[in-house]
Amino acid sequence: MQVICPVCKESGELNPQHWRCECGEAWEPVDTLTFDPALIHPENYGLWRYADIFDLGFRQPRISLGAGWTPLIPAKVQGLNVYFKPEYISPTGSFKDRGTEVEINVLAEQQVETVVDDSSGNAGSSLAAYAARAGLKADIYVPHYASENKKKQIAIYGATVNSIPGVRNDAKLAAMNSVGGKKVYASHAYHPAFLLGQESIAWEVWEQMGGKAPDWFIVPVGQGVHLLGAWMGFERLRKAGLIDKTPRIVAVQPKLLNPIVRAIETNAAEVEEAVPSQPSLAEGLAIAKPVRWKRILEAIRASGGTAIDVTEDEIIEGQHELAKLGLYAEPSSAVVWGALMKIRQNADPNDVFLLPLTGSGLKGSPKI
Ligand SMILES: [Zn+2]
Repeated sequence: MQVICPVCKESGELNPQHWRCECGEAWEPVDTLTFDPALIHPENYGLWRYADIFDLGFRQPRISLGAGWTPLIPAKVQGLNVYFKPEYISPTGSFKDRGTEVEINVLAEQQVETVVDDSSGNAGSSLAAYAARAGLKADIYVPHYASENKKKQIAIYGATVNSIPGVRNDAKLAAMNSVGGKKVYASHAYHPAFLLGQESIAWEVWEQMGGKAPDWFIVPVGQGVHLLGAWMGFERLRKAGLIDKTPRIVAVQPKLLNPIVRAIETNAAEVEEAVPSQPSLAEGLAIAKPVRWKRILEAIRASGGTAIDVTEDEIIEGQHELAKLGLYAEPSSAVVWGALMKIRQNADPNDVFLLPLTGSGLKGSPKI
């Protein structure tokens, strides 16, 4: 696949050994063609309806577990026009499958043997499942505090679970140090094919809304790959003249660990590494400084969006309020509720809000 560095503009064919640019930045997929609706395969209700737009050199994936084409559920929430997109209705119960399904096909094409990632749980589960399906070995590094349910989910797919003491970043360093030869770093934070897969949510929403885009996209941010992928996907629709404007992107983080929120609130040029005083219930968002922070800030600012943080009580309340609508999201996912309640004050009454629900409530135990 063709990749480009968004910082130094180095570009070329992706090599699995060079999982990031020499300058240290994460690769991004190159938009090799303009989004053309005629390229969609309408008979395919999954990610691969966009196979020609992915333009990876193959139309049929080697490996599929049927990710993508999640429902779009309209709801009136306190008078607001809201669409929920339960991304947890996916092969391993989180939005990560959208990226992993594209990534694993690129890795299989490159004939790697072992894939490595660090994860608080959901990305590790997703990669473990797809590796099993592809006949690859998976080596997953998790922080010691990751939930038992998530560790067990990774293990049952046959992956090696390495529980690493310390903070989340220690798991990342352990993963990076373990790769070499045909054992490659298949990081959801770094891999450009993962980002490409995430773009598909924007295209799906545009199709499901009858050729329209929402006014607001409210999304939890850990590594921020869902945010960035969606923004890039909407941008491609805008550049193709299919929508007038990209939705305003709202990044949501727990107050206990909010590096993006701080940068946006202080209009900072850089994101400073955050240090949590205690762990948040939103364990999937425990990222002190996202790998792609530069582009995340750009996406929020260019879209006219913002960043909002929520308290632990607001996270619990969000999980319960979503459940009252029949939607069971994990705490890392339920943060969007509190953000919706705050952003409504700055919104037009006719605005349309899109809230992806990124992870299943079944991933952990709710506080009742
Ligand atoms: Zn670079």
